[in-house]
Amino acid sequence: MQDRYGHRISYLRVSITDRCNERCTYCMPQELQEWLPREEILTFEETLRLIRIAAELGVSKVRVTGGEPLTRRDVVHFIAQIPTISGIKNLGLSTNGTLLARQITSGKTMATALREAGVQSVNISLDTLDRDVYSRITGRDFHAQVLEGIDAAIAVGFDQIKLNTVLMRGRNENQLIPLIEFAASRNLILRFIEMMPVSTTDVLSENNFMSILEAKRLIESVYGSLIPETEFRTNGPATYYQIPGCKQRIGFIGAMTNLHFCENCNKLRLTCDGKLRPCLGSYLEFDIMKPLRAGASDEELKQFFLDVVDRKPEQHDFRDNYQPNRKMIAIGG
Ligand code: SAM
Ligand code: SF4
Repeated sequence: MQDRYGHRISYLRVSITDRCNERCTYCMPQELQEWLPREEILTFEETLRLIRIAAELGVSKVRVTGGEPLTRRDVVHFIAQIPTISGIKNLGLSTNGTLLARQITSGKTMATALREAGVQSVNISLDTLDRDVYSRITGRDFHAQVLEGIDAAIAVGFDQIKLNTVLMRGRNENQLIPLIEFAASRNLILRFIEMMPVSTTDVLSENNFMSILEAKRLIESVYGSLIPETEFRTNGPATYYQIPGCKQRIGFIGAMTNLHFCENCNKLRLTCDGKLRPCLGSYLEFDIMKPLRAGASDEELKQFFLDVVDRKPEQHDFRDNYQPNRKMIAIGG
């Protein structure tokens, strides 16, 4: 699939729930969250059918996300079916990490079950090493569980584990160096992400927004000039660097300040309530659940995908005084 700007779509982010066991201010609105009723959520069978159709159109990478995907019942069973879909070569998961160390059957952690189900890469959110700050950011006292979850993930040997840190002025700029040292001690990739306007709580302002350039300067003031790794790419828009003198790799995701951010976008998003979104930072979304439940054929659904890709914007609208309509938690990060 290719859009009119030359973006080749090979990556589908699949959100399987709008629910979460945490309450990050930059992701969820402050007002009481109403979860979607179950009948408005795609069943796993429906989701798998859409992934298969996307795979027939050239999608080779799937990342399961949410909300917190590991809060959905039978998630492991669902995930185990994704690698059986012809054409899917790469399967990732984004998680807050809180449930990775949980024992799900005797002697087996969630992390182990996910690895056995075929998950290759795991992205784990970690904004701070300070337990109190963590609780303030996420609304929950789950810091210890996340650290255990990270170790559980390391223990089962995923192909790749990345830690993701959202940059927040006044809340975690003093954590960047400790987080780098934490990631280095565990041989994990660490990425710093600019906050995007996708929640009504942390509306971007000079008070809370920290750019990747500022983070890079702060890091360089400690370690010296970072060494660009132009050859290293994952599937996303991060730019990567080595910390001089050690093997630590860090990435920067600057949706707000990197003007080339959208150039190589290869992504399409499927929300848990069956909307296809051609871009995270655009109001455009298309209801594929409706034709799906009305009995559309595979060919008709394929055409739906192609039409959505054709509407993919050249770039996101985040820099355009963007006001979120749907929150990150309801889209799938
Ligand atoms: N619950 C999982 C987690 O926290 O990783 C998966 C879903 S979460 C929406 C996916 C990613 O989006 C997380 O790394 C989170 O930090 C990031 N995220 C959420 N809101 C954001 C925002 N306003 N700006 C930038 N990143 C955000
Ligand atoms: Fe939940 Fe992840 Fe959003 Fe935090 S960022 S509220 S953990 S979905």
